[in-house]
Amino acid sequence: MTRKRLTKKKDSAKKATLRLLNSLGSRKVITQGNAKYMGSFDSSKLAFDYDALLRARSENDVSVCLKLANEYGVPVTTRGAGTSLTGSASPAGGGWVLDVTLMNRIAIKKDKAMAIVQPGAIVSSIQAAAEAEGLFYPPDPSSQKYCTIGGNIACNAGGMRCAKYGVTRDYVLALEGFLPNGEKVSWGGEYRKYATGYNIRDLWIGSEGTLGVVTKAVLKLLPKPEKTWTLVAAFDSDEDALRAVQRLLEEGFHPSILEFLDKRTIYCAEEIAGVRLFKNVSGKPLLLVEFDGPKAALTKLKPKVLNWAKRTSRAYKQAKNDREAEMLWETRRKCSGAMFALGDTKINEDIVVPLENQVRFAKFLDTLVRRSRLPIATFGHAADGNFHVNIMYHRDNDDEMARAKWAVKELMQKIVGLKGTISGEHGIGLAKTPFMKIARNEAEMDAMRAIKKALDPNNILNPGKIFDVYEVWNHTPETVSLPWDKKRPEGRRILPEHLF
Ligand SMILES: Cc1cc2nc3c(=O)[nH]c(=O)nc-3n(C[C@H](O)[C@H](O)[C@H](O)COP(=O)(O)OP(=O)(O)OC[C@H]3O[C@@H](n4cnc5c(N)ncnc54)[C@H](O)[C@@H]3O)c2cc1C
Repeated sequence: MTRKRLTKKKDSAKKATLRLLNSLGSRKVITQGNAKYMGSFDSSKLAFDYDALLRARSENDVSVCLKLANEYGVPVTTRGAGTSLTGSASPAGGGWVLDVTLMNRIAIKKDKAMAIVQPGAIVSSIQAAAEAEGLFYPPDPSSQKYCTIGGNIACNAGGMRCAKYGVTRDYVLALEGFLPNGEKVSWGGEYRKYATGYNIRDLWIGSEGTLGVVTKAVLKLLPKPEKTWTLVAAFDSDEDALRAVQRLLEEGFHPSILEFLDKRTIYCAEEIAGVRLFKNVSGKPLLLVEFDGPKAALTKLKPKVLNWAKRTSRAYKQAKNDREAEMLWETRRKCSGAMFALGDTKINEDIVVPLENQVRFAKFLDTLVRRSRLPIATFGHAADGNFHVNIMYHRDNDDEMARAKWAVKELMQKIVGLKGTISGEHGIGLAKTPFMKIARNEAEMDAMRAIKKALDPNNILNPGKIFDVYEVWNHTPETVSLPWDKKRPEGRRILPEHLF
């Protein structure tokens, strides 16, 4: 861009921000200070310079913002809690950040088994409000105490209970909000059936804030399961554990949660975090399994599941009560933070592998660790094949960083080769843009670009995400600590040789 055009653009952006300020006031439009700084990045910690943070309190605020943005060509990045791990909520295009967290009302309609929510409602608050009425909102991202329903809808968030209950999309009955040009729209209503023209509701879900701004959602609720039952099983190898997953599902069981923790994750949990589940078995990969349902059905199910565990595992144990179940889940919670003893930087991927290729995936991980000489620990949601591959390295070590960069690319290529995909729940944002060409062909990319162009001809909403290749490696992340950041262990560890 020539200097003259750049100056003209800057002047126009300044004028636009002034008009936003005049329209909505300085209580809502923040142009400096810590609050604005905190809006410059998300959990990826990739920060970008931008002009103003708008803390919207009403639909009118959203509409005013988008209309002015279109008039002046100002980029707008909608923001929930900023827990996105991909940079999807970082304002890469500059302009304005539209924070909707103050729009956070929740109403439960027990007779319809629905929750009517504003986008800033925290997911765990929706779950609690539903539970208070004997109802159940299943999607449970690990960030649920912090993240918003708007962010979950925009990323089509998942979680552990997807094994049985599916992802956010499966619970969104209707959405209301604004097109990128500031026009109000609603896709569906407080009803369960919806076949009235194009289903743009589903197009918005998972669009990472690039196609519209959600200001209200109608969510489907289920009856709350009567009871849960937890079991843990240890296996001789990662392959054995994933073979056992296949058996369990083939035999027709439907666990509500089925989490896999590979041998390197277990090293982190046992040797770094100090959590040990079995007295005589250590260092072995685990499956953490939960079933839910009526008490009588669980009583009938237990011997059959225990029989599966006996046949397939090296050791197993069941939780006899909620307190014991809590202790089993402790391993899952602690492993993620413990990994930081192996490297100060984590690349947390969320790839998906079809069930039939999970054993091959486990073998590939061994090869990847051996060839990259990096500690790579994998855990995740085995029933739906959505695994978190955590590549750890030290950011000040150029050689480790180069190997990490190589390892991610190898991983993505392999996953697509295994008929899987590069993201199951976090989305693309900035971090995964270099791999879109591995996962999607030109015709698919063109179709997506055409949709973006049709709904957002001025490229206002969240520009730079999904489509443009962004090299996160060239961007030094902020060093700030966020409320959801795990406590880092003291000292440095090196992965033992037998785990390479
Ligand atoms: C510790 C931790 C654990 C996590 N665990 C999980 C997990 O188990 N499963 C999972 O799926 N994810 C997980 N995540 C990722 C993250 O929490 C999810 O992507 C979540 O959905 C983001 O919600 P948010 O409110 O923080 O949205 P933000 O990060 O603020 O925004 C995310 C995206 O949504 C868009 N957006 C936000 N609000 C709106 C709106 N109202 N209208 C339109 N677009 C909007 C933004 O523009 C951006 O593209 C985890 C993150 C952390 C830090």
